[in-house]
Amino acid sequence: MTLPNPIRKLDPTVVNRIAAGEVIQRPANALKEMLENCLDANATNIQITAKNGGMKLLQIVDNGCGIRKEDLEIVCERFTTSKLRNFEDLTSITTYGFRGEGLASISHVAHLTIITKTADSQCAFRVSYLDGKMKSAPKPCAGNQGTQIIVEDLFYNLATRRKALKTTYEEYAKIADVVGSYAIHNSHVGFSLKKIGESSACIRTQPNSTRVDNICNIFGNSVARELLDVELQSDSLGFKMHGHITNANYSTRKLLFLLFINNRLVDSVGIRKVVDQVYSSYLPKGGHPFIYLSLEINPNNVDVNVHPTKHQVHFLHEEEITEKIREAIEMRLVNCNTSRVFYTQAHLPGSALPERRPETSTASPSQVVRTDAAQQKMERFLSPHAPPAASNSLESSKRTSEGSSSTDIDEERTRKSGWKETNLHSVLSLRAAIEKECHAGLRLLFKEHSFVGCVSRSRALVQHSTSLYLCNTRQLCEELFYQIMMYQFGNFGMIKFSEALPLQDLGLLALKSRWSGWTEADGSQDSLSKFIASFLASKSAMLLDYFSIGIEPDGALLTGIPILIDGFFPRSEDLPRWVLRLATEVEWGDEKLCFETLCRETARFYAMSLDQGEEDEEKGDEPVERAVVDGQSDSEEASWRHVVEHKVYTALRKTLLPPKGFSTDGCVLQVAHLPDLYKVFERC
Ligand code: ADP
Ligand code: MG
Repeated sequence: MTLPNPIRKLDPTVVNRIAAGEVIQRPANALKEMLENCLDANATNIQITAKNGGMKLLQIVDNGCGIRKEDLEIVCERFTTSKLRNFEDLTSITTYGFRGEGLASISHVAHLTIITKTADSQCAFRVSYLDGKMKSAPKPCAGNQGTQIIVEDLFYNLATRRKALKTTYEEYAKIADVVGSYAIHNSHVGFSLKKIGESSACIRTQPNSTRVDNICNIFGNSVARELLDVELQSDSLGFKMHGHITNANYSTRKLLFLLFINNRLVDSVGIRKVVDQVYSSYLPKGGHPFIYLSLEINPNNVDVNVHPTKHQVHFLHEEEITEKIREAIEMRLVNCNTSRVFYTQAHLPGSALPERRPETSTASPSQVVRTDAAQQKMERFLSPHAPPAASNSLESSKRTSEGSSSTDIDEERTRKSGWKETNLHSVLSLRAAIEKECHAGLRLLFKEHSFVGCVSRSRALVQHSTSLYLCNTRQLCEELFYQIMMYQFGNFGMIKFSEALPLQDLGLLALKSRWSGWTEADGSQDSLSKFIASFLASKSAMLLDYFSIGIEPDGALLTGIPILIDGFFPRSEDLPRWVLRLATEVEWGDEKLCFETLCRETARFYAMSLDQGEEDEEKGDEPVERAVVDGQSDSEEASWRHVVEHKVYTALRKTLLPPKGFSTDGCVLQVAHLPDLYKVFERC
């Protein structure tokens, strides 16, 4: 027969240690408690240092109000707080802390030291704690106003918890998540996080920044430049929401989800799920957005007291509020998508299209949105029509290129109601070829490069990491234009000429040039140019629909050419050569070859303005003419240097998938490598 063990009261230290283990599960939880205390103390600057992922040491220094010397004795006892007095206060609580468990818990599972000074105290005081109690009386010491909390050897007395922790690296990453989230939400406060012994911080934000500043600072420009604001308010449900979410151009493998409810960093499985659902129809398979949402819910409707970590909160009308959030995000994404600028051309009767695609003008959101992940994947790299620029370019702008160009080029942009995704096998396989050929190292180089300067019209210096590279801008540009043509197939804006140009005249001009290689054996120039004009006119429907190359078929007049990069114009004197080559070099007989050669020829035509012509060398750095201009800038800025830096290299950064050949053919040459230079200096 087994007899029951007698029931005994647990030793309070054991009780506290068990309770502490619930509040503090890992270094990041301890840090969150302490950060919240700093914010409650109205700090405007918070510095965090960690060692071994916070397991060996977590040090938090703030410039808040400090702790009164007389409170130091009880500050680490359980349920001692300066914040909550009555149970009723719980419903109107505006501070993070309220139940006085944070420091107590930490002191039961780690060695805790506090150094603190209030404004009215002569000096700072230092105390160490063990299991909620001071080890000895506070000792006066030097110190600035504010509080410094040092937590050492977390879980020194809880071996199982210690063993359950992840690696130093993972714990540090969790700490960085918490600091980053709070830094974004509390952008008026400056935060810094660094590993002990390292001089540079891994997170550093300035006080009085904006949330978008800090998102950019912490998550990088790739997130920040694709951000959309969302706002939502419902009086009946008693809540307000404000947020920053990425548009469909941004996609990452792991959902970046920052949710604050009444200023508290929390998680909500429900909201997370709904957000991912909305984005699943916008992003490539396995892609996720960045989401920052701050909800303010009537405190009476929120129960923060759900879990000791305060990580989960429950609130009234949870389902309705979640649904409202879903709608708001969906609306924002749809609107953003429709306000992108693309040229639309209705299907022309009589054109010999291999395949008919849906009309876009009446497209429903699900048609406007790319739903095939595989097809959309590249688009985020390849749309130079990013939303912020779109608002300017929505107004149809007419401008004339200045200088000596024989034709005035006016630009007209037409609003497009949606993106036409192509299903043409030929185009998809040409895209696949680009992706297969992509050199990952060069892609990274261009993605992350800093532009240093133009050496000449066709060469520029860029820096990546510790190396300097000399790049063949013309060659890069030609590939870039080719890729833009492939990935924006059927979705180009149009540069419309103020006066349509007879194709025959252009053909004739080309044939008369020395470089055309024309001989009498080819037939008379007149009859050849007539043939060129009528041949291209016969292709007008396809050229317009797929490439925004405008040809008025009756008079065989060229009316416009595609916009490949906003603000980039090819030279009008290169038009004749392009027209001739369209007629003679494009493989019209085979769909795939036709698209490939046509895009190559067109890309070449556009990139020609970056040729290092003899003319340029003679006239030095002066821009020869203003064939390449950004019409939005004044004429001074509209020089080719400006275009190269701000249009070409920006587009290269965003979209180019550099083919492998560029790494060996001299297109990108490493000219200096910093560590090697150091070696040279060392010898001096
Ligand atoms: P709570 O935050 O729930 O009040 P804590 O155990 O986290 O409980 O903190 C106990 C008390 O210690 C707080 O109420 C506050 O008065 C004081 N305190 C803790 N950290 C700081 C700090 N960084 N600056 C000023 N006071 C602090
Ligand atoms: Mg607290």
